Amino acid sequence: MNDPKKCEDVNECVVHNGGCSHQCVNTEGSRYCACKPGYQVQHDDPNECEDIDECDDNSSPCSHECINSLGSFYCICPSGFRMKDDNTTCEDVNECLADGLGGCSHICHNTLGSFICDCPEGYVLVGNQTCRDINECLLNEYEGGCSDDCKNTVGSFVCSCPQGYALARDRRTCTDVDECHTKNGGCSHICSNTAGSFYCKCPVGHYLDEDFKNCLDDLLPKKMIPVFINLLKDKINPDKKVNEITRAERLELAALFKNFNLSVKKFRDIDEAIITCGGIDTREIYSNKMESKLVSGLYFAGEVIDVDAYTGGFNLQIAFSTGKLAGKSAAD
Ligand SMILES: Cc1cc2nc3c(=O)[nH]c(=O)nc-3n(C[C@H](O)[C@H](O)[C@H](O)COP(=O)(O)OP(=O)(O)OC[C@H]3O[C@@H](n4cnc5c(N)ncnc54)[C@H](O)[C@@H]3O)c2cc1C
Repeated sequence: MNDPKKCEDVNECVVHNGGCSHQCVNTEGSRYCACKPGYQVQHDDPNECEDIDECDDNSSPCSHECINSLGSFYCICPSGFRMKDDNTTCEDVNECLADGLGGCSHICHNTLGSFICDCPEGYVLVGNQTCRDINECLLNEYEGGCSDDCKNTVGSFVCSCPQGYALARDRRTCTDVDECHTKNGGCSHICSNTAGSFYCKCPVGHYLDEDFKNCLDDLLPKKMIPVFINLLKDKINPDKKVNEITRAERLELAALFKNFNLSVKKFRDIDEAIITCGGIDTREIYSNKMESKLVSGLYFAGEVIDVDAYTGGFNLQIAFSTGKLAGKSAAD
């Protein structure tokens, strides 16, 4: 002290850092404690510093998750986000922009923090990422859509038609092609359109190509014509012109019409069978109630009974009638 009349400030910070745990700031006549960044002066002890919790719910600087540390903090981003340069804000990652559409086989939609895979029409998502072709031809709603043939293609399907039919505008339904519409179907005289086909006809008294093999259209069903021509081949040359056919040959043809013999070669497959012969003997059944005469309380109906008839509704009628009577009797 140079001037005994003047007071000089004492720097309390010199001795033991003024008692401050971090920094001591000298002031005229006093001092106070200050803290390093990330710390604050303790409420109950102004000499001590305590960590500031920057992640406190109300004041977190992070857009997403905040992790507090001694004197500092850091932000972290959830999956699907990345940290911006400010180190506090997370921004969405557009996974769909990455190579390979984020792993989606066809369509990728970015969402906040994630992405979803999608498929174009005609495909179905298998798992989360892969689209697989739908076989529309196996689906009921589409099977009904194609009136005839359905062919599956990748991502779609096409309907097709048998010969003589063409796809209508709906691309599903096969409609008959009227072959006679174009150049009279190539027929010299009359063209007659049929479902899926057509045939040429001649005016009465004229025959197509005038061969025997072509002149039976008016006399026989189509499928029977080759049968007749074959059976008569030793008697009438199929290529003989009709105006050369003799009376004797015409009589041969007439004779075959009048005496066309068919012999049964074998039964059709059991799967095609219509009615079962055999069953419960009708003499063992009370016909007024269809109850068994041998076992009381046992009723019979339909094919289980030894009754059978020609096809034409008789067997169904038997089943309906006996079924109703048996059911009614059993209930009484
Ligand atoms: C292809 C075909 C064409 C026919 N066309 C004609 C015709 O045009 N006109 C005509 O009159 N008749 C026709 N019939 C015959 C006629 O259909 C039968 O005579 C009649 O349906 C018999 O009736 P049902 O009730 O006795 O037997 P079904 O109609 O055979 O009925 C028996 C039922 O019992 C069921 N069943 C069998 N076992 C069991 C079991 N263990 N438990 C529970 N249920 C069982 C079967 O699934 C079936 O639904 C035809 C038959 C066939 C196969």
